[in-house]
Amino acid sequence: MFSSAIGTAAKDVPLHQPTMMLPGDTSYPSFRYVVLHEFGHALGARHAHQHPDSNIPWDRQSTYTDALQRFGWTKETVDENILPSPRNDQHRYQPYDENSVMHYELRPQWTSNAWGQSESWEISDGDIAQMKQAYPMPTPPAPTSPSQGLLRSGPDQPTPPAEHHRRLRAADSDCTTQGAGLSGL
Ligand SMILES: [Zn+2]
Repeated sequence: MFSSAIGTAAKDVPLHQPTMMLPGDTSYPSFRYVVLHEFGHALGARHAHQHPDSNIPWDRQSTYTDALQRFGWTKETVDENILPSPRNDQHRYQPYDENSVMHYELRPQWTSNAWGQSESWEISDGDIAQMKQAYPMPTPPAPTSPSQGLLRSGPDQPTPPAEHHRRLRAADSDCTTQGAGLSGL
């Protein structure tokens, strides 16, 4: 099973264990989807289909049965990776996005009305919005005098490494509060 720790939960993974599991062969049939999806987890994203506002008409018992038969997943694994997560005040939610690369394929057996949906192999606008929220661009400081303004770098100037590091750390801390653990594919 492919997986990734979610955001800074990777810090809790023992050093001798991987924080992400990917297919070892790029010819794996859904390699692109798996890589995009697991790197989404690494950046702090959670499963779109587990959004508390998804309104997916889950058939819980059928989902447990099918996931056990198809993947060998326990009820606990299904609860953790497929069925809706309870709303968490520590999370910052974007609207439910059925086109997210963080959305599983929905098997018709998992819903009460045979709702089926394939996974998305493209990063959606919602995925981009979520990452912009989690990793905002810093606002450049205003020049304090005309001369300083002339000396300031243009927008294409690379961010100095120290500032870049600080900004990533700050964004990272936002994800720390969003729970932990390994997520299944
Ligand atoms: Zn996942």
